[in-house]
Amino acid sequence: MHDQRTSHKDAYSLILEAIDSHLYKPGDRLVESELADRFGVSRTPIREALQRLETQSLLTRDGRSLIVASLDHSQMSELYVVRGELEGLAARLAARHATPEEVRVLRDMLEEDQKLVGDPQALSRANRRFHKQIHLASHNRFLVQQLDLVHRSMALLATTSLAADGRTTGTLEEHARIVEAIEAGDGVAAYDALRAHISKAFVTRLKLDAQAVEAAE
Ligand SMILES: [Zn+2]
Repeated sequence: MHDQRTSHKDAYSLILEAIDSHLYKPGDRLVESELADRFGVSRTPIREALQRLETQSLLTRDGRSLIVASLDHSQMSELYVVRGELEGLAARLAARHATPEEVRVLRDMLEEDQKLVGDPQALSRANRRFHKQIHLASHNRFLVQQLDLVHRSMALLATTSLAADGRTTGTLEEHARIVEAIEAGDGVAAYDALRAHISKAFVTRLKLDAQAVEAAE
């Protein structure tokens, strides 16, 4: 039997995951009763979860309905600036504080992810795990929290930049460079490698958006 707090948290995570996996995309309407049916959760925790997501700006009002928020061009640029700096900081701290076991996990991830080339969705999930591992290796809880916020907002971007042609190989090479710097304990190199990685992801994203505009015309 779930208590109120657990089911509340469940409804929130369930909806968040659904947005994150693009089951619900920016602009999609979220209806309390449909969500309750889909997730088999009663309406009260769903309502509370929706309110919380609205407070976090992941949902927005369109008249009387709640829809998944979308990021405009400036918001997306602002998000990437913050992401680049915070991820860079995480890499710099990881170079100083990561345990040998944590570095080992990163190395194993690099190897595993090679098998996912050609599967953008799987690679996108692996990418998130990889970055999360670096966040944790920074051993700074406040930074981990801030990065969680940034990554939550990343869910509001329509597609993964890993879906772009030729981006997967580049991504994995960049990941390898980041891990090398962390393993060498070189904070400056780790920061630079991660900043460069996020900057390239941003350029890819801008190109994807330009294509989407072209396709819509
Ligand atoms: Zn990455």
